[in-house]
Order: sequence, then C-alpha cells, then structure tokens
Amino acid sequence: MLPDVARAWEHLQRVAQELFTRYGYEPVYTPLFEHTEVFSRGIGEATDIVSKEMYTFEDKGGRSITLRPEGTASVVRSALEHNLTANGAQAKLYYAGPMFRYERPQKGRMRQFWQIGIEVLGAAEPTADAEVIAVLWGYFEALGLPRESMRLLLNSMGDDACRPAYRDGIAAFIRAHSADLCDECDRRAATNPLRAFDCKNPACREVMAGAPLLRDELCEACASHYAAVKTHLDALGIPYVEDSSLVRGLDYYTRTVFEIQVEAGLGSQNAIGGGGRYDRLMEAYGGPATPGLGFALGFERTLLALEAAGVGIPAPPRAEVYVARVDDTVTAEVFGLAQRLREAGIAAELDHQARSLKSQFKQADRLGARFVVIVGPDELAAGEVTLRDMGTKEETRVALGIAVDAVIAALG
Ligand SMILES: [Zn+2]
Ligand SMILES: [Zn+2]
Repeated sequence: MLPDVARAWEHLQRVAQELFTRYGYEPVYTPLFEHTEVFSRGIGEATDIVSKEMYTFEDKGGRSITLRPEGTASVVRSALEHNLTANGAQAKLYYAGPMFRYERPQKGRMRQFWQIGIEVLGAAEPTADAEVIAVLWGYFEALGLPRESMRLLLNSMGDDACRPAYRDGIAAFIRAHSADLCDECDRRAATNPLRAFDCKNPACREVMAGAPLLRDELCEACASHYAAVKTHLDALGIPYVEDSSLVRGLDYYTRTVFEIQVEAGLGSQNAIGGGGRYDRLMEAYGGPATPGLGFALGFERTLLALEAAGVGIPAPPRAEVYVARVDDTVTAEVFGLAQRLREAGIAAELDHQARSLKSQFKQADRLGARFVVIVGPDELAAGEVTLRDMGTKEETRVALGIAVDAVIAALG
C-alpha cells in the first residue's frame, strides 16, 4: 500500500478508533497466526473458509499453524484464555489488521486483506445486537457514505432449540429439489444445508426462494429476541430489510445476523460489512456458555464503496510551511528553523537535495504548503527572514527570533 492508499487506510482506522471508543470498545491485538484448531473448531469444518480458504502449514515443531482468516475466533480464544468474561463480566473489544484467505483474487478481495471489527462478549440482551449494528451503520455514515446508498439486511438464525429441526427441514428440501440445484448445494444437504441460501447460482436461488423460512419457525425465545432487536433499531431510526436468505458463511452464528450492502462499485459482491451473534462459540473452545456478538468490515471494499459514492478521503497537506534557502551558506539556519517549527507542532519541510530556490517553491506547492519562509544571506545579516504567502504571493520580513510565532499567527 503506497502512501495514497495508506493515508486512506489510516483515515479509516482513525474514524473507527474514535467511534468505537465512544461506544466503550477497547483495542485488542491478536497474533497473525494461531493453532489451526482455533479456526477449524470455531468457524466450523464445513465452512468455505476452513475447508478451502485457509493458509495452513506445519511449523518446525510439527504444529499445524494457520494464518488468521478472520478476527472473531482469535478474539474469543484470547478472551477465554485471559478470563476476560469470568464471573459474568462483559468485554467490549475492537481489532484491526490483515487477514488471509486463499480465494480467487477479484475486485476488493485480496488474499491478504484488512478487516476491522468489534466483539461484545457476555451480553445476551437484544440492546447489544442493536448497538453493534448501530456502530457498523454509524461507521459508514461517519466516513461519509450516504445512508440512501446503504442497505442493512437483517435475519435471525435461531438457536439450538429451533435451528436443528429447521436445518433438517432444509436438508430434506434440498434432497427433494436436488435435480434443480448445483452439485455444491446438493452436497450441502449433508454438511451445511443453510449455505444453499448463499449460493450465487441463479437456478439455486430460484429454488431456495421457495424454501421454508426460519423466521417463521423460530422458537418463542428467539422470536421475541429478534422482535426486540427490530424495535431497538426502529427507535434508533436505522432502516433495515429482513432477508431470510441471509445466513452468513460461518457455523458459529446464532440468532441475529446482519450485513450492510452498497448499491454501486462492488459488482455482485456488494457487502461491505456484517456480523452476528455467536452465543455458542466460547463453548466450542471448552469455555463456559458466554453469549457474544460482533461485526467485521473490509477496508478494501469500504474504500471501493466510498470511491463509487464519490466520497473523498481527507488528505491533510504534507507540509503547512516550507523553509527555503537561497544558498548553502544559510543551511544551518534553515535546518534549525524547520526543526523549531516542527517542535511547535507545525508540519514543516525543507530541501535535502540542494535544489534551486525556484525548485524549492515548486516543491512547496506540491506539498500543499501555505507559506514559505525564505532564508537568505542578506536578510539573515539583518537578523531577518522573508515570509511568503503562497496564495497571495505577498512577502513580509520578520525577525528570525520570532519567525516561529509569525508563522503560527499567519497560519491562524
Ligand atoms: Zn447452488
Ligand atoms: Zn430458538
């Protein structure tokens, strides 16, 4: 990532840190790789991620190691390892960093990609679901994405009380329609039937549109949880579309799942962020039953969405002030003045290439400097420097001793 992109990256991270902190989330950093079973056990053997997309290798000690394909499994693993949710405590965490998946590279989907996400552990209440969704929605709004361009999809995946029966029903439905479904969906009947809702094949989509909806078969506890999440979202004024085909590709989800899609810029893969509840994940690692939920969003896809919506990334000038030298007899004063400006909190730049004064002005322009301080032997002999306004081209002489204050005053 070269500076143009890296700057946008840092902007995305700054906005996230500011927003997530306001909602009470704390940073967490997990390793880039873990024991393979952290992912296979948490995410699920039958998911695309674990079965096809992980970078797994053996280290010199013969251990199976995997580059992290997503953030949640590691965060939950570390929360359990360090007892963050012991005795019913709640942990609110956020992370950002590269993830790795072996997929066919396509627009906005690289094999090393950046994700940022939040996790709430220890919270079962539907207000937590609404909060997590509000943070995701608010993040894209804070970046400047118009809300009309976003679509929030919402669904409930049920829980252990109601999903197994529904799963069996979908498996039976798939077997009954196997002639009209792709081979992959046919196989899913045995491994992960709900993923058939995710299939991009138009024929499969048509068949699955006629499948029974989990929404209609939720148990009472799931139904009232789901209803409460919707009520809270309504109260926040966050619009959503209920989409029962939204199952997200991971085994660990229970109850609420959600995804934000954008209309333009990403082709068919138009999701920019999503997540859900995973009340059984901590138990999959041998921990106590601990409700949890979170979201993850991809930086690459977010940048594409911003670009498509015509939203710019603020780019601060690389230098507010440029200190130029007339010749090399004044180099020490130029270097000293630039340093004092930087120490005073001003972005200042100077020439390290013995350029002509004209080239230094051009460089100052390229860097976005509003003022150039010109240091020459004649002025310096009088204890002064020249302050040039790059907009008006106006020049004023100021005493070297107060040059920093003069620049601060000029910058306003
Ligand atoms: Zn299919
Ligand atoms: Zn249920």
